[in-house]
Amino acid sequence: MNCNSLSLLNFIYYFKLSLGIMMTIIPVIVIELIFIRVIRNKIKNRKVNTDFIIKQIKTVFYTIVIFFLAYSLNMVVNTPNSVCSMYARKDIINEYKRLQESVNKSDISEDTMIKYMENVLNNDKKDVKVVKLDNKKDDFLKENSTKTLNSVYVKNGVFYYKGYVAGVYNTYSGTNCPSNPLKEGYNNKFGYNNFFYNRLTTFIDEASKNGYKITMSEQGCRSYQTQVNYYRTMTPGRAAPPGWSLHGLGIASDLEFYGSNGYPCPYGRTDKSCPSMGWAHQNASRFGLTFPLLNASYKEDWHIEPISKQKY
Ligand SMILES: [Zn+2]
Repeated sequence: MNCNSLSLLNFIYYFKLSLGIMMTIIPVIVIELIFIRVIRNKIKNRKVNTDFIIKQIKTVFYTIVIFFLAYSLNMVVNTPNSVCSMYARKDIINEYKRLQESVNKSDISEDTMIKYMENVLNNDKKDVKVVKLDNKKDDFLKENSTKTLNSVYVKNGVFYYKGYVAGVYNTYSGTNCPSNPLKEGYNNKFGYNNFFYNRLTTFIDEASKNGYKITMSEQGCRSYQTQVNYYRTMTPGRAAPPGWSLHGLGIASDLEFYGSNGYPCPYGRTDKSCPSMGWAHQNASRFGLTFPLLNASYKEDWHIEPISKQKY
């Protein structure tokens, strides 16, 4: 969007409004005024003198000048290139305000807002998708579970988990996995934390609605022993040290992104070459999810976690 100042949009909106008034309401009032003057003159039986006529002509002349001035200004303002003027509409300004508030509350990114505004302007209608996503944000902020399960509890949408303490076995992530997914709070298909699973499925469903195929790892909760095996066999730095991984708490997942050919995007992919992944990276935050390893030394573009989490 080339015109992204709310005050500028507002100014142009009122400027255009005043031009409109000068071109329509003022001439109408003037014509009526002259009409009334002439009638009054007749009723009072005054003789029509030159002064009276000149007065009326002057009024008409000034009105015409004002009209053409407003008309030409309006033409200048409304040239196809003056983007700001095209955007200066009350509905667009209101939409802009609403989105700006969302940006301020960090519900959406400035990028999303600009993209959304472009959508509004291009299609001249509201993109329902974004509105729906805003509601999702409210949904996950309401997530609460005071009960600590598998060392995790959720308050106002934030995942709290017990940090790793060397030598204290019950702080090792993955320790409680063998009892999942039957354990309370983890009783979903793959044994993820239910809140996290809920976000993931909503996210993946929305991707599907947009035409992108994404699947989550079937390993909802990674056992301590599995993490030990990964740590031993994978390239150093690739797998988290045993006991540390959020996978062991059921609040992380590794996703598979599919291309339009129906096959998983091969490694070395980018957001552009693999649009389903691009969509995921761009939209995760609105579902309370994040990809924390996009810029890690060992980049993991598939690893997803809750956006807000904290050790206790
Ligand atoms: Zn992972």
